Amino acid sequence: MSHFRYVDGELHVEAVPVRRIAAEIGTPFYCYSSATLIDNYQAYAKALGALGVDVFYSLKANSNQAVIRTLAKAGAGADVVSVGEMHRALKAGVPAGRIVFAGVGKTRAEMRAALEAGIYQFNVESAGELEALNEVASALGRKAPVTLRINPDVDAKTHAKISTGKSENKFGIDIDQAAQVYSAASRMPGIEILGLAVHIGSQLTDIAPYRAAFAKIAELTSTLRKGGMKVERIDLGGGVGIAYRDETPIPLEDYARLVREVIQPLATRIEIEPGRSIVGNAGILVSEVVSVKEGVSRTFVIVDAAMNDLIRPTLYDAYHAILTVKEPAKNAPVEPADVVGPICETGDRFAEQRPLPPLAPGDLLAFMTAGAYGAVMSSTYNTRLPAAEVLVRGDRFDVVRPRPNYDHIIGLDRVPDWLS
Ligand SMILES: *Cc1c(COP(=O)(O)O)cnc(C)c1O
Repeated sequence: MSHFRYVDGELHVEAVPVRRIAAEIGTPFYCYSSATLIDNYQAYAKALGALGVDVFYSLKANSNQAVIRTLAKAGAGADVVSVGEMHRALKAGVPAGRIVFAGVGKTRAEMRAALEAGIYQFNVESAGELEALNEVASALGRKAPVTLRINPDVDAKTHAKISTGKSENKFGIDIDQAAQVYSAASRMPGIEILGLAVHIGSQLTDIAPYRAAFAKIAELTSTLRKGGMKVERIDLGGGVGIAYRDETPIPLEDYARLVREVIQPLATRIEIEPGRSIVGNAGILVSEVVSVKEGVSRTFVIVDAAMNDLIRPTLYDAYHAILTVKEPAKNAPVEPADVVGPICETGDRFAEQRPLPPLAPGDLLAFMTAGAYGAVMSSTYNTRLPAAEVLVRGDRFDVVRPRPNYDHIIGLDRVPDWLS
């Protein structure tokens, strides 16, 4: 059951009317549902738990402390792509031993910090990074626990900007070079080589690319073992795609069957790092209509949220369903409108020619499925205050990130003496 639904004609998140939050804290704001977060995590735990798969929530999708804490309490580890995210995970209560550090450009300072914290695993993406990590770990008198991220050269058939598993993408070690780098790793004093990692992209709705990538990883594992290498861990990367519009997500049972058939026979530990599919449908962005402008050829609904709050439509041509917070009458007419923000960019558009009921200033809209890659990508462009963030649990809601004020934002700047 969705925790975002109309009750008595008003959109609710769990038992809280969205309008009540808007009245108390103003718009725009993100609103997350605890129950949805936990349901989504449990779906992975249930589908994959029998296979002994470790779930590391990928923080980059949504790194609010309250979100991480909710998932950590449910049992999730953390997949981080910077030391900043590592600090967020630790602060939210994820033990260092439950943190995986991925990412194509880890600096030596980041490696040192993560080694000192004692994280579970580094997913290393190049021979150069491996050498640097070996040096940093050796200098600290430690051995870094490592998997090598392999680029399997598989087309994930997702948006070009979030496809990561083709050889022309910057990610991972080319599969043809993998055995050589793995063997080198096994001889490095500062490296404990433990296995392989793969992540071919985000928002996959077709299982075939996973099958192709996992098969290549299985084959590589056999090759490495024949060469006398030990392979004890396999990290399968991000989670499955989600339904923004009319996509059919890959059922987790199908994904689990694939893992059981292709990866489990290798008898390694198995890891997965879902982000989007944990938080995506657990969050909405709520905004108020500022004005409705009847142009010559189009109607523009101008709202108080903008691309600085939710950049996915601008960056990925992403579709977000738009609901009115007040439930429209069953026979309400719909007219196409462009829903736009106030930013001075034509790309600041949430929807083009979207059928919507008649709208007026003051009406509240909800951009659905905005929990992943939403708030974390926000900025202060146009000196706009980023949206507040709210977490609902049952019949209560709490602000989990207040909207900053102008003094805070402007006060980050410094004017040199020579200008005064
Ligand atoms: C982004 C990312 C993830 C999470 O991907 P989702 O599609 O959000 O589940 C997992 N692993 C790595 C290495 C990533 O870069």
